[in-house]
Amino acid sequence: MISLGIESTAHTFGVGIITAKGKILANVRDSYATVSGGIHPTEAKDHHLKVKDQLIDIALKAANLSFQDIDLLSFSQGPGLPPCLVVGLEKAKELAKKYDKPLVGVNHCISHLEIGNLLTGAREPVFLYASGANTQVIAYDGGKYRVFGETLDNGVGNFLDAFARELGLGFPGGPKIAQLAEQSGMYVELPYVIKGMDVSFGGILTNLKQKIQSGKFSKEDLSYSAQETAFAMLVEASERAMAHCEKKELLLGGGVACNKRLQEMCRIMCKERNAKFFAPPPDVLTDNGLMIAWQGILQRKVASKKLIRFDIRPRERTDDVGVTWRSIKKPC
Ligand code: AMP
Ligand code: MG
Repeated sequence: MISLGIESTAHTFGVGIITAKGKILANVRDSYATVSGGIHPTEAKDHHLKVKDQLIDIALKAANLSFQDIDLLSFSQGPGLPPCLVVGLEKAKELAKKYDKPLVGVNHCISHLEIGNLLTGAREPVFLYASGANTQVIAYDGGKYRVFGETLDNGVGNFLDAFARELGLGFPGGPKIAQLAEQSGMYVELPYVIKGMDVSFGGILTNLKQKIQSGKFSKEDLSYSAQETAFAMLVEASERAMAHCEKKELLLGGGVACNKRLQEMCRIMCKERNAKFFAPPPDVLTDNGLMIAWQGILQRKVASKKLIRFDIRPRERTDDVGVTWRSIKKPC
């Protein structure tokens, strides 16, 4: 069985093709970016409309397949920006109708987790999902992917992007902050906000804005300090979830998980508690169609040709999803 998945929740339009045995046949994408300022939903939608057909052709060519060879279609149903989600939904429905293929709608966050499990060999991890809009500490428990900790305001990526905007840098800001941080080793104290396993970035952002305006600190030192603080909070929440759930694995996912310093901090924490640390390659950490195609394979039993039942789910939560494709394990 071969599955083609479409990702379009936010900045990226991605197309992936994978077999039921997990053989990767294609994973292509094109991402909306800006020189200055953040992500504008209508502009991101226009970007997706422009690249979608071409990317599907490129993916099929890369896999050396024609559409007749595809057995299953899947798309990101949510969570995400409604104008962007609609582009993926409409394209998936159009293709399913034209080629008479079954369709599955999947949850974007859970797809990040499941592709990580597939590619790293993690089995029962705590999943630190550090992305633009989403920041959650997730673990499978009692038949569901439960959220043990999460941001109470911005996702860590949106926080880094907003901080970058304050420094006059464009979207995505995370990699630019990472570069600046590498040029400093000087920590400037910032608020450290963690409540149980939940985190919050709003106060840190306000504090950073005040420090920028004061003119007393270099952007390198502030970038270094923003990363050290935010990532230490994420690692602390993850460690607490691992202790609470008695899990011995940590899996990273989401665009911010590309960050080498975050990976290093997670690796150190895991080593100290004798746990395993897993991070899949960067092209599946950021938004991609491959994870959507794989999630389609996992959920293929609920695939349908009744296209009328498909819609977007912009606010769907990880713990709202019925996990039908895994066997139930006892609660932790
Ligand atoms: P996602 O929504 O999962 O595709 O992740 C996008 C987010 O990841 C954006 O907020 C980016 O700024 C952030 N990001 C990407 N690469 C890095 C990096 N190396 N360090 C920190 N943040 C990053
Ligand atoms: Mg994502």
